[in-house]
Amino acid sequence: MKNFKNDEVWFITGSQHLYGTETLKQVEGNSKIIAKYLQKNKNISVKVTFKALLTTPEEIYNLCQSANQSETCVGLIVWMHTFSPAKMWINGLKILNKPILHLHTQFNSTIPWGQIDMDFMNLNQSAHGGREFGFINTRMRINRKVVVGHWKDEAIIESINVWTRVAASWKATQSMKIARFGDNMREVAVTEGDKVAAQIKFGYSVNGFGLGDLVHHIKEVSEKAITQTVADYLETYEVLKPLQKNGKKHQSLREAAKIEIGLRSFLETGGFTAFTNTFENLTGLAQLPGIAVQRLMAEGYGFGAEGDWKTAALVRTMKVMGAGLTGGNSFMEDYTYHFNPTNMAVLGAHMLEICPSIADSRPICAIHPLGIGGKADPVRLIFNAPAGPALNASIIDLGNRFRLLVNTVDAIPPEADLPKLPVASVLWKPHPDLKTAAAAWILAGGAHHTCYSQNLNPAYLIDFAEMADIELILIDKAINIPSFKKELQWNELYYHLNNGLK
Ligand code: MN
Repeated sequence: MKNFKNDEVWFITGSQHLYGTETLKQVEGNSKIIAKYLQKNKNISVKVTFKALLTTPEEIYNLCQSANQSETCVGLIVWMHTFSPAKMWINGLKILNKPILHLHTQFNSTIPWGQIDMDFMNLNQSAHGGREFGFINTRMRINRKVVVGHWKDEAIIESINVWTRVAASWKATQSMKIARFGDNMREVAVTEGDKVAAQIKFGYSVNGFGLGDLVHHIKEVSEKAITQTVADYLETYEVLKPLQKNGKKHQSLREAAKIEIGLRSFLETGGFTAFTNTFENLTGLAQLPGIAVQRLMAEGYGFGAEGDWKTAALVRTMKVMGAGLTGGNSFMEDYTYHFNPTNMAVLGAHMLEICPSIADSRPICAIHPLGIGGKADPVRLIFNAPAGPALNASIIDLGNRFRLLVNTVDAIPPEADLPKLPVASVLWKPHPDLKTAAAAWILAGGAHHTCYSQNLNPAYLIDFAEMADIELILIDKAINIPSFKKELQWNELYYHLNNGLK
């Protein structure tokens, strides 16, 4: 999985010439100290590089141009150490196409009461310099993240870390290629959408392939490669008896391995980082890819079932955001409810395709009939997910815009074992409670498919929505249905008028 090796954030400081060289030297020195602190901080995952002290419109414009062209720069952290007249920033900001984090901090954490004089006041002007920079961004309707506080504050560091991870995922999203095997599950509405609008908004491209294109790669797979992958299965998972060597169904395990290797080869050859399939279109495949999809997701690929390219893209983006963090991200579906009045919960699962990155223990590798689609029994990994905080996220196409929905949840242990359930599953209690959360999700048009995340909190998706400039609907402990309905109504109006404001 991606580890941000090719990503960096540029640290930029704004000032002006009025203060003289001595002061500017100090401004630059202090900026370097802060940038270095951020760079060395273990809690910030993406490299932070001090890039420039900017004091003229030309310098600002040139810097923004270089940022746009840079392959590695995922965004700018901008700090106003002093006042920096913001008309100087207009031409640069006009062309900048990288995300901005406005760090509203100052070098000193507290006021030196006994020593403070006018020199100190002239040097440390973030409090009003940051407001001037804020005005021009707001005046130009530029989305950005504003982070306020002393730069050594742990909460500030975490805000910066979240944003750097999201900025890196935004870069990955903009060049993502999604392979769509077959089309949509017939007659399903929410998995459809405008792929052209999505590419304009998110940058990723979605292209369809016939199953024959995939089958070609699967046919090329050697017996030796299959044997190696099967050995990996036997070592990594609790492979059930019928699938083991000499077991009645061992050939099915080999077939599943063959599909996995062929699928990976197709994706690698085409430079795809996400894909979809549909059980209604499997011509040439012996079984619906189960373990293959599960393992590819665990490697970092985005996936959406039934042709769901929006969720495939979201799963990939969230996997990049969460790279290296404890816990995983998986394709998910709200499957069935537990309406126990004292313990209402949702059982999340899918036909097969849940990512083992969210598993609570060594997955069981098993084979069962699918009961839908009329193909041979597919091999799959079965597991539960650990209890703890998590969230579900979903992107829908509302015709005039994309809406990102986020619902925070608490995963809980099942009340009893589920010995007959032949798929991976998670049980969770949505916030604020099942009745309110499900009503809100349904009123907002949220899909049945989501990305379930154990290692991202809403802050990540809020930053993502800002960068992508899309609507974000948060369903958390704070919501209630009457105000939620009003939020949806106001948003309809806002997004209807929004294009006219820009
Ligand atoms: Mn589904």
